[in-house]
Amino acid sequence: NAPLSEVDPEIAQVLERELDRQRGYLEMIASENFVPVSVLQSQGSVLTNKYAEGYPGRRYYGGCEEVDVAEELAIERAKALFGAEFANVQPHSGASANAAVLHAIARPGDTLLGLSLDQGGHLTHGMKINFSGRLYNIVAYGVDPETSVIDMAEVRRLAQEHKPKVIIAGWSAYPRQLDFAAFRAIADEVGALLWVDMAHFAGLVAAGLHPNPVPHAHVVSSTVHKTIGGPRSGFILSNDPDIAKKINTAVFPGQQGGPLMHVIAAKATAFKLAATPAFKERQERTLRGAALLAERLSQQDVMDAGISIRSGGTDVHLVLVDLRNAAIDGKQAEDLLHEIHITVNRNAVPNDPRPPMVTSGLRIGTPALATRGFGDAEFTEVADIIALALKGDADVEALRARVAALTAAFPLYPDLQQ
Ligand code: PLP
Repeated sequence: NAPLSEVDPEIAQVLERELDRQRGYLEMIASENFVPVSVLQSQGSVLTNKYAEGYPGRRYYGGCEEVDVAEELAIERAKALFGAEFANVQPHSGASANAAVLHAIARPGDTLLGLSLDQGGHLTHGMKINFSGRLYNIVAYGVDPETSVIDMAEVRRLAQEHKPKVIIAGWSAYPRQLDFAAFRAIADEVGALLWVDMAHFAGLVAAGLHPNPVPHAHVVSSTVHKTIGGPRSGFILSNDPDIAKKINTAVFPGQQGGPLMHVIAAKATAFKLAATPAFKERQERTLRGAALLAERLSQQDVMDAGISIRSGGTDVHLVLVDLRNAAIDGKQAEDLLHEIHITVNRNAVPNDPRPPMVTSGLRIGTPALATRGFGDAEFTEVADIIALALKGDADVEALRARVAALTAAFPLYPDLQQ
């Protein structure tokens, strides 16, 4: 039981250097966040040793009395947080939650209607070489090419034409709220089930700052590690008792073996924290940060450089930058921001003229920096740094110094040593 630094110094160094990287860069990947130390503790705990196939009180292994408590807490807290009658907290990730949803409510060959990947959807919503695209007949809707907003008339038209078994509402890169009631009305009109994937905006929902899909959808899936800021994992909610039963069977034994009990315990803690006033305040700063970024990137000097913001703004935690008319492409912009120690990811714009490894866009999110403590003043500064960098007329050294001042003022995990 020697420490990691002795057993495996190479991996110990990876941990150390990664902590340094997280401390020294501004993390603006919209799907990332920083978990609290309490969550790190559960994930690095002896619960990782425990097999617990089954559900609390109905396990296929002995010795589950303690992990049962953890899973019950996670279930009850998830239900309370989102106003759901049922929660399954066992999915290992967002993608495995989504696989379980489809396993529960559709059969291979059924038609699914979802947002296409290149317009902001997720791989698991029907991408060709993902299991979803291989097993199901996919019909995709997109965004209006002018406004970058989902056209509900188009969703209705496609639903009426293709009579899907499932309509998927949810996104990985979309800067606006979805109209869940309108999606449900369309689903009811054509006899489809409505599945909402709230992986990205679940934290905003938990804080009451975004409409809750649970009352509208037949089933809702999510991750815990994006806006919620908990452990990397997934969960599923429903208010329909038949679907709930099918979801439980689909997750186990349908899809997974032993649940990750150390992660489930960490989910319980994340859901507990998500019900606090401090969490709501953090989500408010997240939204303010994204709004300030959108505002700065809409100013004349940025527009003059051929850069624009898709949909003209944001009402969530991210901004989508359109570089189709700019001097740099998505890959160059990502690399340039990396050079000044800001981490973002390039992202395709609808009908992107460039290949997926290059793209003509950026997705920039504010959840991790809000968790780090950033408020209006810091987000205004970050937005200006990004604007100047993308315009291409600023000194990289000077911008990196401005980033360094921010990271120094908001130390990350100040007491943690890897
Ligand atoms: N659903 C949506 C909407 C996502 O954006 C993501 C992740 O990016 C997922 C599901 C998948 O989550 P995971 O990466 O945990 O499998």
